[in-house]
Amino acid sequence: MNLRNLPGQPHLAYRGNELYLEDIRLNDLAKEHGTPLFVYSKAAMLSTLVAYQRGFAGRKVQICYAMKANPSLGVIQVFAQAGCGFDVVSGGDIERVLAAGGLAEKIIFSGVGKTSSEMRLALDLGIGCFNVESEAELEVLSEVALAMDLRAPVSLRVNPNVDPKTHPYISTGLKDSKFGIAHERVLPAYQRAAKLAGVRIVGIDCHIGSQITQVEPYLDAMDRMLDLVEAIEATGIAMGHIDFGGGLGINYQGDTPPSADELWQKLLARLDARGFGERQLMIEPGRSLVGNAGVCLSEVLYLKPGEQKNFCIIDAAMNDLPRPAMYQAFHQIIPLNPRSDAPATWEVVGPICESGDWIGHARKLALQPGDLLAVLSAGAYCMSMASNYNSRGRAAEILVDGNRAHLIRQRESISDQMRGETLINPQTTAASI
Ligand SMILES: *Cc1c(COP(=O)(O)O)cnc(C)c1O
Repeated sequence: MNLRNLPGQPHLAYRGNELYLEDIRLNDLAKEHGTPLFVYSKAAMLSTLVAYQRGFAGRKVQICYAMKANPSLGVIQVFAQAGCGFDVVSGGDIERVLAAGGLAEKIIFSGVGKTSSEMRLALDLGIGCFNVESEAELEVLSEVALAMDLRAPVSLRVNPNVDPKTHPYISTGLKDSKFGIAHERVLPAYQRAAKLAGVRIVGIDCHIGSQITQVEPYLDAMDRMLDLVEAIEATGIAMGHIDFGGGLGINYQGDTPPSADELWQKLLARLDARGFGERQLMIEPGRSLVGNAGVCLSEVLYLKPGEQKNFCIIDAAMNDLPRPAMYQAFHQIIPLNPRSDAPATWEVVGPICESGDWIGHARKLALQPGDLLAVLSAGAYCMSMASNYNSRGRAAEILVDGNRAHLIRQRESISDQMRGETLINPQTTAASI
């Protein structure tokens, strides 16, 4: 059998002229469930997790999946069963972890705008750690915990002022970013935390950005974090765990990020050299665990050749795949059943009424209406950012495990979309509105 793997996508391969994810022919899923359709490989998720586990062999580490990359219950369940904790950014995320069988004590709660009610929910459930992002949040958290007769476990998120060399919207550790506490204010903030009756210091953390493809920004951030740990511990405050965040990039278009074990070999060498090798460590990977584990299947609706450009209109759009519109991001697009005709150059676009609704520019493809396409690297920050713009229901999701395909999310119907909406009472008179 002619089995042709795709670079960076070990679980996706052509067998003859048919695209498979693990042992499932994607054409069959598209026919059965319709398009657009997200399909994820469980083996791909677990193999990226194993790369981290290999990198950390013999160390004390808690891997917390940053679930905003893909918070579907079936995906959370895979990581919960593999022993992961979770990095969450809202009360809703916490409820999802519990609904999928994750443990509250392995939850760390990040985010610059936690509300008091989210804090109460997290305290009530006994989460592992609040990653506090400002001095003001620290004061509120202490008050909320005291009112419940509890002490909130906290780590302060450091803004190390390091450039992760990625897209500005996903850079989070620079001085002008809204995230974390500025490096020079971290020591006084810990001294303040040590005096607050409603908090208990359990660690320190940082997260400098996303889709990082180089090692140097991580090494710089690590050095700056360790400098702080030394300075804070010199004042008699015990630090607990050190959390280095997430952010490792994936291969979208010939990107060459280090593998998780390569990255951590270098970081752990630095940690050892500075005498911190025995510490309890935490990391918060998101994209690197799920990004290349998923594809989005879509059907070609219309071909619209033109003088300037040829448009290929597909049934997936920016509401399903927001990354091209948001970050000018590149996703590889390949046919489920390649044609042998000569390719043309297409602007691959969705049906939404916005010129920003494009999925791929200038793609060389041999296409006919009705063909099925796979948009690759669609496991992270696609479904999690999907919307109902243009009254489009969100796509269905399938989790493939060997030769089995589990429907983990039904396609959203129009009644799902309209639930909770009401008409103004037709009996109401104009005067009483
Ligand atoms: C988004 C986020 C992550 C995960 O980032 P990835 O690039 O997906 O690995 C980790 N930690 C925090 C605080 C985040 O906001």
